[in-house]
Amino acid sequence: MSSRRTSSHAPAAPTIAVVGGGIMGALTALTAAHLGINVAWIGPAEQGRTDGADARNYALSPLTVDLLKQIGVWPAVAPLSCTVSRMEVFSGKARIDLSATDAGAEFLSVMVLHRDLLSALEQAVQFRPQIQRITARPDQISVTKDQVTLTAGGQTCTAQLVVGADGARSWVRSQTGILWGQRDYAQQGVVATFQTEYPHGGVATQWFDQGEILALLPLADSHQLSMVWSTSRPEPTSAAVMDEFVAGIQERSQGRFGKLTLVGDAVSAPLRMMITEQQSALRTVLVGDAAHTVHPLAGYGLNLGVQDLLSLEALWKEHRHDPGSTIAIHAYEKSRRFRVKRVQWGLDVLQRLVTQSHPALSRLREFGMRLVADIGPLRQFLIKQAISPQ
Ligand SMILES: Cc1cc2nc3c(=O)[nH]c(=O)nc-3n(C[C@H](O)[C@H](O)[C@H](O)COP(=O)(O)OP(=O)(O)OC[C@H]3O[C@@H](n4cnc5c(N)ncnc54)[C@H](O)[C@@H]3O)c2cc1C
Repeated sequence: MSSRRTSSHAPAAPTIAVVGGGIMGALTALTAAHLGINVAWIGPAEQGRTDGADARNYALSPLTVDLLKQIGVWPAVAPLSCTVSRMEVFSGKARIDLSATDAGAEFLSVMVLHRDLLSALEQAVQFRPQIQRITARPDQISVTKDQVTLTAGGQTCTAQLVVGADGARSWVRSQTGILWGQRDYAQQGVVATFQTEYPHGGVATQWFDQGEILALLPLADSHQLSMVWSTSRPEPTSAAVMDEFVAGIQERSQGRFGKLTLVGDAVSAPLRMMITEQQSALRTVLVGDAAHTVHPLAGYGLNLGVQDLLSLEALWKEHRHDPGSTIAIHAYEKSRRFRVKRVQWGLDVLQRLVTQSHPALSRLREFGMRLVADIGPLRQFLIKQAISPQ
């Protein structure tokens, strides 16, 4: 059992205040602490969160795994994760097999449960004296050209920079007045876990069919799959729809996982792409879902947030004396503006392509998939883009 590190001294004044108690908030606090920067990590504890995030599982990209290694959290996450080295994609009669070895990579992604990842991050925070944890929502913020002052849980802290890691409905974003908009996919993302009759063998599978996207992703338990199903059906989590749906998956997957049994409840959330006009303001930066959301078809949301953080980390090394300076903020904006939009619109185009159910477009999609299956270099290019985007 671990215990919270205590000190008889008052915590040092933070250089950075991180708002948001989720994965991005924890990762940001740990990354700053790893550089020796003092941080106030502010946000309610995640337990009891009601938006379904707790049911999610993440497909971590190699870049995200590298960050976990760097901040010393990987040893706690690795035994609870499943390495995905192969993926099978189906649409109608077409099929593509994507393998990490095709692109000279060690793996495509690593699957981990939201709660396991968060708990490993929270444990690590307890052993970083640079992090002061304030488990409350901030109620006030004031930003001047020299500093940011926040009050939360009756405490006031002053920092050089505030990082908004407080999710798609970001309070920090609303305080800055940064404009944002969203595209509603008019679909629900249904997340559930299935027990399988046969072992999954670490293979991820995805189907594009009838305007829906279904992903079955392997978990650390060799007989459990995590499902992300994008569907327009009303009440997709009702017992009748789920029963019909499970029978449908077994048929579509030609029984390759054997009998599937739902574990726990299925949880659904509306799918939206949220775009911000900027990812920064005076002494403020946004990371993760506070700055952007994407369709989950490529399992990319959290990984895109980690790329924000890698940009910040590089800038914090360079602008250590004042990470909230105008020069550092502009450099962050410049580094993220086009890259994030490219990923968001790229995934949006992909979503439109794979959910078109018009027969002519379905045939075109199948034709495209056969081309990818037959042309090795094209397949390699796609895998490299998926696991390590430039
Ligand atoms: C169905 C679905 C499946 C997905 N699958 C994947 C996947 O396989 N791989 C992947 O990379 N991504 C995936 N994503 C995306 C991923 O879930 C998000 O990108 C990621 O969780 C964002 O993390 P975050 O910490 O930025 O935001 P959040 O997880 O939303 O966390 C925000 C935190 O801020 C806190 N907060 C809110 N308001 C305040 C406030 N006022 N003050 C302080 N704290 C506050 C919240 O309580 C929460 O703890 C999926 C998304 C969906 C919808």
